[in-house]
Amino acid sequence: MDSNREVLQEEATARRGPTSGDALPTNVRELISDVASLRLAGDSTQLIDQIRDLEDLTSAIAAMQARAAVAFDLAQRRDQAAAGVAPAKQGEGVSAQIALARRESPSRGGRLLGLARALVVEMPHTLAALETGQLNEWRATLLVRETACLSVSDRCAVDEELAADTGTFSGAGDRAVVGAARAAAYRRDPRSATDRARHAAGERHVSLQPAPDTMAYLTALLPVAEAVAVYAELTRHTDSLRSHGDPRSRGQLMADTLVERTTGTPGGVSSVEIQLVMTDRSLFQGDSEPARLSGYGVVPAEWARTMVSSGEGQRGEDLQVFLRRLYTAPGTGDLLGADSRARLFSANQRRFLEARDHSCRTPYCDAPIRHHDHVIPWHDGGPTSTSNGAGLCEACNHTKELPGWRSSTRSGPRHTIDVRTPTGHTYRSLAPPLPGSGPVNGSGPVNGGGAADVASASTGRLDSSIRQAGVPRHSERRTAVLATSGSS
Ligand SMILES: [Zn+2]
Repeated sequence: MDSNREVLQEEATARRGPTSGDALPTNVRELISDVASLRLAGDSTQLIDQIRDLEDLTSAIAAMQARAAVAFDLAQRRDQAAAGVAPAKQGEGVSAQIALARRESPSRGGRLLGLARALVVEMPHTLAALETGQLNEWRATLLVRETACLSVSDRCAVDEELAADTGTFSGAGDRAVVGAARAAAYRRDPRSATDRARHAAGERHVSLQPAPDTMAYLTALLPVAEAVAVYAELTRHTDSLRSHGDPRSRGQLMADTLVERTTGTPGGVSSVEIQLVMTDRSLFQGDSEPARLSGYGVVPAEWARTMVSSGEGQRGEDLQVFLRRLYTAPGTGDLLGADSRARLFSANQRRFLEARDHSCRTPYCDAPIRHHDHVIPWHDGGPTSTSNGAGLCEACNHTKELPGWRSSTRSGPRHTIDVRTPTGHTYRSLAPPLPGSGPVNGSGPVNGGGAADVASASTGRLDSSIRQAGVPRHSERRTAVLATSGSS
């Protein structure tokens, strides 16, 4: 952060910060109980007034939250400077703490802190409009977003020109707000459009979101030229296949082509590992307990069985299905795993952590697992065991290593990690429930669980040796289930 911004941030915070001896409230809890004790208004006219006033209150709260975030950022930077943290590293972990407090993902926490800084430090008129309900948090976000590439002075000037706190945007919708901000920004700094484009290209990414009916959205955000090129190529290939009599629809062909080109395999799924976690009853006895697919979430048992069995035979010789059995601990929904003296997690331990944790273990973070982390670090004597292991995304793994952050495991019905932040707040991370462990209330052991299989499918033929090793005979299975949860 440049010094100009820092000075502005100090000034903005000092205006509303606590001073000794003042009687103004800092306790939000009382406000919450005041709101909870409100009564609904009696007639329609009053109800509309009430809805409007509550809307204004929501905006005012968002503004105050922004001020608090900026003040927290400043306080943390001061603490870090006092502790000898290098200037370039000061501010690290701040947005992660705000994210935990707001029950948001770390990446959203970063955006919220950026929004707060822009509003409090550079856009006082927009902040005032938020405080008075003339803008809601989303419209204020739009103004911040559309001026993101301007210098501090240009952004302040645009804020003043728009003067959102004087009723400029009364009756304006989202598009009108964006249009006005964009026009003012272009006038102020015509080059900012180019900078925006460059900045936007840096944001390119591919993401995966679950869709209903065991479908998923694979989304790519790309510079327009590349997006058009990909689409044109898919269209061209599709047209050529259709002209040769392929009966599939255009949509189906384009989707199939995308999968084949990306995975490099006709039919789509190749030696890329697809991990299914399901109970042995669902796998072998037609039970309906849903399974879990890594990177996706819950899938119906029937779909999972089809996925595993279609691996047998239909696909090429080089493709294999691995079945591994992971039994849940007696009376709990936790997966069992072996300890190791090595510093690095073994391939089996890593696979186990991915099966158990499903996604990053930081509360509210849904990001895919990128690191297999020692909860208590190896250099502090933490063992390389699955109970001391956790799946984390890259950003959360970095945050965990910052000064003042500490994690520990605790015993519970499921694998549990306590994350302690530099302010001394503790957040609990519970491993997601395993298929077959039923709804878990966190208060005790769950029955009906037993054994979970990980069908770790480099999808294809169910190799006979693996079949013998992985698929238990009936007596074995019953013994295992009885030994683990007492269910039959
Ligand atoms: Zn994460």
